Amino acid sequence: MGSDKKVIVQSNWKMHKTHAEGIDWIESLKKIEPEVSPEIEMIPCVPLTLLRSISQAAQSSSQIFIGAQNVNWETWGAYTGEISASMIADAGASYCVVGHSERRTYFHETDESVNKKIRALLEAGIRPIACIGESLGERERGLTLNKLERQVITCFAGLSEARMQDTIILYEPIWSIGTGHTATPQQAQEAHAYIRLMLERVFCKETAEATRIVYGGSVKTHNAAELIAEKDIDGVGVGSGSLEISEFITIARISSDYAELTHN
Ligand code: PEP
Repeated sequence: MGSDKKVIVQSNWKMHKTHAEGIDWIESLKKIEPEVSPEIEMIPCVPLTLLRSISQAAQSSSQIFIGAQNVNWETWGAYTGEISASMIADAGASYCVVGHSERRTYFHETDESVNKKIRALLEAGIRPIACIGESLGERERGLTLNKLERQVITCFAGLSEARMQDTIILYEPIWSIGTGHTATPQQAQEAHAYIRLMLERVFCKETAEATRIVYGGSVKTHNAAELIAEKDIDGVGVGSGSLEISEFITIARISSDYAELTHN
């Protein structure tokens, strides 16, 4: 990865953890902060019920930033059960995941709705973590790059270069999420390089280089190092492998070692 970008270590808690479990997790992570490279950014994305308390617990940290897992694109109104980007900001969070494949599958999220959510988040000062990626069928039919091209064009339509650079792209091949079938470093690198090329075509070279493109999909302690070492992989997104804080800490340390190596 480029030497001027911080390495992202994102964690997706999905629908897991009580308040007490969440606080234990974040307090354990805070303890390792003095030992990890200042060139990494750790981003736990937590359930809404924990957004404020975990954000408060992480407030003293300069390397831990909290994210939500979903947002509504409207600013306010009669949308029972939904929350807006400004509510996420008000809770103290600074990131939000959009377009996760579970939301696309179970809650019919589309690239068009992802685009509206990204714009709403950026308007409220929240950085989006936008998930894109192909299904197994699309990969087997040789359609991976077509899918990524379409997603980059649609999800990031209408963004300025600066706002694109504030957005993190989380490449998550759907077949690798929660399955234990991690993309090989070569498969991931090929996809990331193509996403970057698309960013260059749609925006410009500077934006393509500055935008962080993070890999997610069955990242574990045993495969994080080889993924993060690829040229166009700017960090890792970890789901099930982050629920145990000890595993997430190991992955954060691996990322920290890599960041030290490339930033010095
Ligand atoms: C995720 O939920 O974003 C994810 C990548 O999950 P897992 O690590 O379990 O595949």
